Amino acid sequence: MMTFSRRLAALLLCAFCVFTISGSIAQEKDKADLDAITRIRYEGFHDSKIMEIASGLMDGIGPRLTGSPNMKRANEWTRDKLTEFGLVNAHLEPWSPFGRGWTNEYVNVRMVSPDVAPLLAYAKAWTPGTDGSVRGKVVRVNIHTPQDMARYKGKLAGKIVLFGDDAEIKPSESPLMERFTDKLLYDLEQYRVPAERDVNRFREFQRRARFFRQVNKFFDEEKVLAVIDHSRGFIGGGTVFVQSGGSYKTGQTAGTPQLTMAQEHWNRIARILAEKQDVELELNVKNNFYDGATTQWDTIAEIPGGDKKDEVVMLGAHLDSWHTGTGATDNGAGTVVMMEAVRIIKALGLKPRRTIRIGLWSGEEQGLLGSQWYVANHFGTRPPYTDPDRKGDPTVIRRDAGPMTTKPEQAKVSAYFNVDNGTGKIRGIYMQENAAVQPIFEAWMKPFSDLGMNTLTMRNTGGTDHLSFDAAGIPGFQFIQDPVEYDTRTHHSNMDVYDRLQPEDLKQAAVIVASFVYMAAQRDQMFPRKPIEKEIAPLPPLEDEERPSSPVATPAAAGRPQRPQQRPPN
Ligand SMILES: [Zn+2]
Repeated sequence: MMTFSRRLAALLLCAFCVFTISGSIAQEKDKADLDAITRIRYEGFHDSKIMEIASGLMDGIGPRLTGSPNMKRANEWTRDKLTEFGLVNAHLEPWSPFGRGWTNEYVNVRMVSPDVAPLLAYAKAWTPGTDGSVRGKVVRVNIHTPQDMARYKGKLAGKIVLFGDDAEIKPSESPLMERFTDKLLYDLEQYRVPAERDVNRFREFQRRARFFRQVNKFFDEEKVLAVIDHSRGFIGGGTVFVQSGGSYKTGQTAGTPQLTMAQEHWNRIARILAEKQDVELELNVKNNFYDGATTQWDTIAEIPGGDKKDEVVMLGAHLDSWHTGTGATDNGAGTVVMMEAVRIIKALGLKPRRTIRIGLWSGEEQGLLGSQWYVANHFGTRPPYTDPDRKGDPTVIRRDAGPMTTKPEQAKVSAYFNVDNGTGKIRGIYMQENAAVQPIFEAWMKPFSDLGMNTLTMRNTGGTDHLSFDAAGIPGFQFIQDPVEYDTRTHHSNMDVYDRLQPEDLKQAAVIVASFVYMAAQRDQMFPRKPIEKEIAPLPPLEDEERPSSPVATPAAAGRPQRPQQRPPN
């Protein structure tokens, strides 16, 4: 029997032993693999292929609207490239239902009276073209309430509608290009306790979406020749932000041609009309619909694992884009970063313990469809919708659809890494409220301090495909990236093209992603998980008479809710 003081000494010693042993195990477990990182950095910085991949995708294929022939070509091209890099099991994985495919083949818009002038405008996705070259008088229309619709009834047949509020144009006082400052990164590190569920905000979004459907229907019934709104923002200068003119779903696409015009050109027409002068435009828009687009595909490929080959580390990005640029920063950038990351791992002959699987998703711009279907088919589902409008839509990220039921494969995926915030280099990572990953990421991030990666935040970030994995209980992460010109110039614009990609930023991102994915594949344990979020009560269906409670600003707001701001408030 030991004396008290001896027992205490032994206890202390023992506690010390335990502390140092477990401390060193923890350190060992989460140490960055500097040998691998050295090699990955060398390959990624000195023998990079990333801009070659980028040119093949952006220049060779072009925009990749989900359902379009280019989307399918991009699926096949990425599958073949990944095979060429040495990945195995490269294939296209189908998901369904999507809706109609769509392409714009030709667009020409000019003023023919009172002056002759070519005008910068683009067709909105999933809207019909004109029947060849057509001319029409322009009418300014502002609709904020159902009463406004009544004012125009019977007056718009054969007219070209100049739709929306005046475009405000100002020179930009701040640079169009932005990197995160230390202050902004510090702010981003601070967690913000979420507010209560804002039922009203969601309701308002639903009401607005419904209202815009009514406005579209009104224009169809009035037999309007075409509707022209203007690009968002106040910077203008030839950058035109263009999305869709309504639903991509079969039987629900808009019946009237719709275009988005550069603000400066739109405003000229508006000013002439305000002077009570007639304006006549000539339009020629050729758009194609493809009704065989119900099935869409994600591109999947693998680097087989070793002793833990049944477990998987995933990385991914969405391959689809909007149609007026070539989808370079959204999200060609994320796509080529992920492709280059797996190319680097293969080129170095690194042998991961776990299987590394890349997923290039389609349908992200229509609501994370491709990744949600992948997760639903492999990892977990929530009950299907009963609402006829939403029948067939994936429910994975909708907690109000019901509880998540997981599948056996869900237990085998350690983590998922995503890149989808433009061309900017990586400055940190969102931990998505999973505190247990902090020591892991801290250790792995250290060797990249000289490349500007220093920030971990407990915050959630939304708006892209890691949410599909997170919803099914798989640790899903999105990196923090410098904004560069994302909001000001490229996000969903005609200028989202190859030249706006920043090669040094992309190389930095590919090196970091390759390192993180490889270290995740080597780690003794799977990634620590957080609980799957509980279901929440669904809202009762919207009553027929419910209208937007405040006037609706511009049609540009119709679509899915805005991506939550990545940048912290200044
Ligand atoms: Zn986007």
